[in-house]
Amino acid sequence: MRAQQQEAAAEPLDDELLAVIAASEHAAREEAERSAERDREAAREEEEFAAVLAMSLQCANQEAHQEAANDEEDDEMRQIMEASLAAAQEEEERRRVDQRIAELTIGHHQSTAAPATEADTDECCPLCMEDLDESELAFTPCPCGYHLCSFCYGKIRNDITGAGAGLCPGCRKEYKD
Ligand SMILES: [Zn+2]
Ligand SMILES: [Zn+2]
Repeated sequence: MRAQQQEAAAEPLDDELLAVIAASEHAAREEAERSAERDREAAREEEEFAAVLAMSLQCANQEAHQEAANDEEDDEMRQIMEASLAAAQEEEERRRVDQRIAELTIGHHQSTAAPATEADTDECCPLCMEDLDESELAFTPCPCGYHLCSFCYGKIRNDITGAGAGLCPGCRKEYKD
């Protein structure tokens, strides 16, 4: 374009040609402006797109955090479940001992209930299977000589009700103080 202009300046040109050149220069300027406007618009769109992208990334992060929080809640829930399970097992163990005391004290296992004379070492309580300590081995609450631990003795005398309550599991006679 500039080359043309120089040529135009160098040679004598008629008005028509000058007008054409002027018009084409004008068109070129307009085209340049339009192109600059397009660039600005493109830049704006790019910015908007970047903003949208940033926002959606933020959303994704928040969701990730939310999920992490949910995982923590799951952990807490699992701990609570485990704790209550452990409590239930303990309760079940206690019930089992109670059940065994009830069975023995109402005489189901009378024949297998070891009399005190059978063994004097490593003897355990026939009800809860805990080892008897020395004072418990010396403890014969019933004249029949039936040994049991102080815990089970206390249970029979104070805790259980119904058949077998307060009775010696060995001879089924009532315990006397
Ligand atoms: Zn016992
Ligand atoms: Zn007895």
